[in-house]
Amino acid sequence: MTTAHNKADSQSRGEYDLVIAGGGLVGASLAVALQQLQTSRDDALPLKIAVVEAIAPDSNAQPSYDERTIALTYSSKLIFEAIGVWQGEVEQQACALERIHISNRGHFGICNLDCRDMHTPALGYVVPTRALGQALYREIDTHDNITLLCPATVSTIKQHKNHVDVQVAQDSQAHSLQAKLVVIADGGRSGLLDQLGFVVDSQPYPQQALLSIVSVDRDHQHKAYERFTPAGPLALLPVSDKRYAVVWTETTEEIEQLTALNDEAFIQALQQAFGHRAGLFSQPSPRKAYPLKQSQVASPVQQRTLVLGNAAHTVHPVGGQGFNLSLRDVASFVETCSEEETLITDLGAPEVLNRYAQQRATETKRVAHFTDSLLSIFSAPSPSLKFGRNGALMLIESLPFAKRALLKRTMGMAKHQPKLARGKRLFKAPASK
Ligand SMILES: Cc1cc2nc3c(=O)[nH]c(=O)nc-3n(C[C@H](O)[C@H](O)[C@H](O)COP(=O)(O)OP(=O)(O)OC[C@H]3O[C@@H](n4cnc5c(N)ncnc54)[C@H](O)[C@@H]3O)c2cc1C
Repeated sequence: MTTAHNKADSQSRGEYDLVIAGGGLVGASLAVALQQLQTSRDDALPLKIAVVEAIAPDSNAQPSYDERTIALTYSSKLIFEAIGVWQGEVEQQACALERIHISNRGHFGICNLDCRDMHTPALGYVVPTRALGQALYREIDTHDNITLLCPATVSTIKQHKNHVDVQVAQDSQAHSLQAKLVVIADGGRSGLLDQLGFVVDSQPYPQQALLSIVSVDRDHQHKAYERFTPAGPLALLPVSDKRYAVVWTETTEEIEQLTALNDEAFIQALQQAFGHRAGLFSQPSPRKAYPLKQSQVASPVQQRTLVLGNAAHTVHPVGGQGFNLSLRDVASFVETCSEEETLITDLGAPEVLNRYAQQRATETKRVAHFTDSLLSIFSAPSPSLKFGRNGALMLIESLPFAKRALLKRTMGMAKHQPKLARGKRLFKAPASK
């Protein structure tokens, strides 16, 4: 560990191994996960890391740590456990997701996913993003080798063969940082990708997602519901104390109307859209709408630059894949930096970045394809797909191998996952003397 004095020294010189632009869910997870490289081997040198975040993690304007609850896959829980983020407030506030009931409004086909079929205690966990933010920033605070600049924004990045220059604006002043690698984890909103000429394929969805938390009159028994409608999926995720997090996808006009309803009218609309299978709903929290888009960067790496999180790929929230995919990217990058049991000290070396990009290309495409397939099979408005939809759900329900494939994808445990996502150590345990 560097001392507080060394940390201040390195900050004043502005030299880092890595600068992370954006301390949202993904950027902060990367800073914390990289500590694995330092604690797992006695001879590992502490990497000097700067996290630059525009909005304080406890601010109401924070886009990553807001009122949302998100569904973490079982593999994401294993990653957070390995990097010390799970233990404490996250675990206390997490609600285990043991079963998922998938159905199609107005049709007879259904499919049930159950963690008992995978011999795991849960398929995943539903967690408030605020709790994740608190745990991640607590970890960042405990590590002397991480410097947090917040509120501060990365304004420009200049790439060179052996380093990057990163300009940061903080307190109306400009600072220059130098690093071997810059990671862009800004959610794709701040123009840094454009500035560096990254090619991004991006399309808005004609729908939005409305989020709220509602009470229900019975125990949810850790069961989630994904109900497909022609406009999009309507999901209920179990949270603590007889409550569900509602993720309701509808056309933009419909979402505007739903958001404007008073509590009573909203509950009526929800009950009508979902039916009574999960119980009687009441007491909705304030509704918040999120615009949806699909985007994908052509390549996540360039000279001494790596793109992660929503900046690299944004998928529809159906199936809760977005952050989970990014967290596996983080785990994969950390593993790439520890190849062959040796810590790589130049994290921005071209061979490191290219190896990472190769490793993740297939998985990124698979998740985008999985999300698209769910939407096109189950939410396409075409009535001619009616029998196909019912058939698909019934087929999955009746074919054990098809169900197992869906379970693995849902849990983030499809093949070729990074070690941390499989609950494995990065380095072999030192031989006992
Ligand atoms: C409705 C909805 C439901 C979802 N549900 C799930 C789910 O159940 N499961 C799941 O896995 N995923 C889910 N997701 C996706 C998940 O929310 C995202 O994948 C995740 O938030 C992406 O995190 P990020 O850190 O990449 O980006 P962001 O959350 O956008 O964070 C980017 C950060 O960068 C900062 N920043 C921006 N520009 C700069 C700059 N120039 N300098 C410094 N800092 C900067 C911002 O302040 C912010 O803190 C959902 C998304 C939505 C919209």
